[in-house]
Amino acid sequence: MKTDHLKAINPDTRKLVNVLEFIKDVGINYKEKGKEPICPSCNKQMKVYGYTSPALTTRFMHISDSTNCLLSTSSKRHNIFTEADYDHSKGILLRNSFCNEDIVTETYAVAHALCNRRLTVTEYHLMIMIADRRDLWSLSGLTLEVLPYLFVLLIDFKKDSSAYKGNTKRSYTYRFILHKPKKETINTLWKHSQDCFLTRVFVGGHFHGKTIQNPATNNVIKWKISDEKYESARLKHQWISANFINKLMKYCH
Ligand SMILES: [Zn+2]
Repeated sequence: MKTDHLKAINPDTRKLVNVLEFIKDVGINYKEKGKEPICPSCNKQMKVYGYTSPALTTRFMHISDSTNCLLSTSSKRHNIFTEADYDHSKGILLRNSFCNEDIVTETYAVAHALCNRRLTVTEYHLMIMIADRRDLWSLSGLTLEVLPYLFVLLIDFKKDSSAYKGNTKRSYTYRFILHKPKKETINTLWKHSQDCFLTRVFVGGHFHGKTIQNPATNNVIKWKISDEKYESARLKHQWISANFINKLMKYCH
């Protein structure tokens, strides 16, 4: 039986499971039990598709329209990747090289630095799932070094609730936008990294879509690709505990 690697949340255990684990744990009669799988990105109910037909790939599917879900292949959010060139055989190799404790940790460390030192395991996991969904790994010329700069483009970073007490609290929801030379596709990003940078825009609320500026200087804040500031985080990740690395790795496969 062919299965898709997209995972969903088991409503009983709240754990992420692949489609075969879901059927084993909940049963194919999940609907009668009122235990539909839940999308880890948009939290909407999903269904199991293709289980009874050997010709189909068994997978989780959204029940209703999902164009606003980041995990949906019909999502318009990641157009930047639609216009690019892909090499699928290289993609499989790159995905396999990513599944390594050092690489997963280094990629997390750089992404974490880009996100002002606030990036949850769940968010990191969602980035990996979207990368799988969009087959980001197959972007021609992509290297592991540039991954964290693409990963942070994939999701929205949600405002923290008032109950969150950490000193890296997010006081608004934002997303990253990539700026690159106009004629270049994302494939050449890593060749022109000195000309590329990320900015952040507000998501939702009164300032939706507005670029975030430094309130003191009114200048747009830019995150340069491969800037020494974030690259140094790649190797200085000793602060990340073995337990946390295990959690990151669990989400890698
Ligand atoms: Zn969804």
